[in-house]
Amino acid sequence: MDKVLSLLVLIFVAPFVFAETNFDGRWIDLTHAFSEESIYWPTADSFKKTTVAEGDTEAGYYYSAYNFSAAEHGGTHLDAPIHFFKGGNSVDQVPVEQFIGNGVLIRIAEKAKLNRNYQFSVADILKWEKQHGAIEEGSILLIDTGSSHLWPDMKKYMGTDERGEAAVGKLKFPGIHPDAANFLIAKRKIKAVGLDTPSIDYGGSRLFKTHQILYGNNVLGFENVANLDKLPAKGFMIIALPMKIKGGSGAPLRIVAFIPAYADVCNTINSLSWLVGSWHSKTPTLEIVESWKQVSTSTLEGRGSTRSVKKDKVLSAETLRLVEMSGEVFFLAKVASNNMPVPFKLTKCTGSSAFFENPKHDFPKKLEYQFIAPDKLSVLVTGSEGKGFTIDYTRLEGS
Ligand SMILES: [Zn+2]
Repeated sequence: MDKVLSLLVLIFVAPFVFAETNFDGRWIDLTHAFSEESIYWPTADSFKKTTVAEGDTEAGYYYSAYNFSAAEHGGTHLDAPIHFFKGGNSVDQVPVEQFIGNGVLIRIAEKAKLNRNYQFSVADILKWEKQHGAIEEGSILLIDTGSSHLWPDMKKYMGTDERGEAAVGKLKFPGIHPDAANFLIAKRKIKAVGLDTPSIDYGGSRLFKTHQILYGNNVLGFENVANLDKLPAKGFMIIALPMKIKGGSGAPLRIVAFIPAYADVCNTINSLSWLVGSWHSKTPTLEIVESWKQVSTSTLEGRGSTRSVKKDKVLSAETLRLVEMSGEVFFLAKVASNNMPVPFKLTKCTGSSAFFENPKHDFPKKLEYQFIAPDKLSVLVTGSEGKGFTIDYTRLEGS
């Protein structure tokens, strides 16, 4: 490589490589935890865990160990090509690179809500591509059907909570239409598909054509994937590593997404969904609570209150709102004493911070929400010349 070219490569590629190797960004676990509650195909054995040992030993140390057993196809899991393709790769034969790649996410939750047997179509792909560009070769395509929040309620999630052969006829959940599968093979050459239902074919399928098409072309399937609603449309990486079962047709899977800070856009309410929950901050004098819930695809509603610990009295309370309008996000804060809410505009966003500003307001002028960890949030409240304070919140457990 000549010097000019290598310099150019360094300038244009280096920041991205740097960001990724330092893992500056956020991780999202797309895996349901395995337990007796995990959903398995009606004809497959469920997850079982038994205790070998648990407790303090006579020698004085603590010791725990368990046995578990389960079918390949249940919980968050991989379908290897051999599942529907004689001679296809078994779990241990899939090259490790195929488990890792750039992710794209297409949402069909609205359609799947109206029809639990909805089949993801070529039109859904083309509609997404019109906005985000064509799905690149080697991508991992994830489809959010909005089913993840129904987990682990079998009846809601897959249409029946019955087990055995007869239950298969009662299955009802969204999947991928065979035409879309053919399109992905012929025109897009993806590595893998994943979705938040028990099967890549819809619940009513009897021939599993989408399985036959995709696995017959060596594409992988990830089923019962979780938390897809937390992903942006693109610009993230997927790492999906299964248990390496020799000759396996499928396997339990740990699948995670990484969203590099540079790629994290937050002009959508979805990309701010990490705020949802209850955040608490306690100092010797003050107790501050801020909680958020998602009320629609474009709105988060929040509540904030500050209490004096000594006086045991609420000093101030406010209602908050984050609204997405015409591709922009606004933060509205309303205290009882004011007639109108104070608006702040989202001006900058990185993977770990969202900046809201209102230069015309006396105090504060700026709010910086820093996402430190899944259970840690810092809010920097500043006025002119950067004067202000920081509130360090901890997420209330389970919120
Ligand atoms: Zn499967």
